[in-house]
Amino acid sequence: MKIAMMARNPDLYSHKRLKEAAEERGHEFHIINTLSCYMNIASRRPEMYYNGEKLEGFDAVIPRIGSSITFYGLAVLRQFEMMGVYPLNESVAIGRSRDKLRSMQLLARDGIGLPVTTFAHDPKQTKEVLKLAGGAPVVIKLLEGTQGIGVVLADTDRSAISVVEAFRGAKVNILLQEFIKESGGTDIRAIVVGGKVIAAMKRTGAGDDFRSNLHRGGSAKLIKLSPEERLTASRAAKSMGLNVCGVDMLRANHGPVVMEVNSSPGLEGVEKATGLDVAGKIIEYIEKSAKPYATKTKG
Ligand code: ADP
Ligand code: GLU
Repeated sequence: MKIAMMARNPDLYSHKRLKEAAEERGHEFHIINTLSCYMNIASRRPEMYYNGEKLEGFDAVIPRIGSSITFYGLAVLRQFEMMGVYPLNESVAIGRSRDKLRSMQLLARDGIGLPVTTFAHDPKQTKEVLKLAGGAPVVIKLLEGTQGIGVVLADTDRSAISVVEAFRGAKVNILLQEFIKESGGTDIRAIVVGGKVIAAMKRTGAGDDFRSNLHRGGSAKLIKLSPEERLTASRAAKSMGLNVCGVDMLRANHGPVVMEVNSSPGLEGVEKATGLDVAGKIIEYIEKSAKPYATKTKG
């Protein structure tokens, strides 16, 4: 097969591993800098160009779109979809996953366990939404934050209100969330490929940080998931419409709750913690699934 990977940095661990896994299996693999693609949105004959050359003959595309280039990245991915190239994850599903509020609404519709999450636009409602989230301690999150940046724990109602005001002053959208204290600064990341959990790890925050992101200095270890946790992760992937994703969950007293579903999960932490060939499993999934014009969603 001829596979394109949309990525900006070819030297990232995940990107190197996907290339290696594809080449080991005899595929032709091209890393394409998303921002250097340009397109001709011609009726019935959509085209894409890259460094003066027309991109043609691709069987599949692996989108690894950084959150800062979501807008243009999704446009490029859509163009591949219009050209009939099989996308590992579809543009609509990635678009959903980039918005935490939208994601939580879709997961809630399907009855997937979530932390109590509240949201309002009008600052006059801050006290009410804080009460709905169960009051302090409460977690306040930027809707479009990543890597744990923009996730704040407020211990008292007063500090929660000042954090909300500060974010509002900066004109960013936020949500309030019940603090799952019993998770003890540890979360679970399950990698779902084609509806099945193929690897899982637990991540624990550095020192007394309640955030367990590896980018914030957290550490990763192999973990065995309960059947309920596996089911929750695969159902979350299905609700979002993602073929490959990382489902982040917390172990709450009342069972697993999903915090977020990541459409471009990093492979380094999970491959090193589990010793599993996650990149290989992803390429295998593409081999089984890539068919021309197989994009299901219409956006
Ligand atoms: P990001 O998308 O920036 O990674 P997350 O929503 O995943 O943001 O939150 C970052 C980390 O903060 C999580 O990995 C988890 O350890 C911690 N965390 C987030 N929400 C909660 C919560 N409601 N209760 C307890 N811990 C939380
Ligand atoms: N266009 C989306 C769909 O295919 C709308 C739902 C959503 O992702 O929010 O269903």
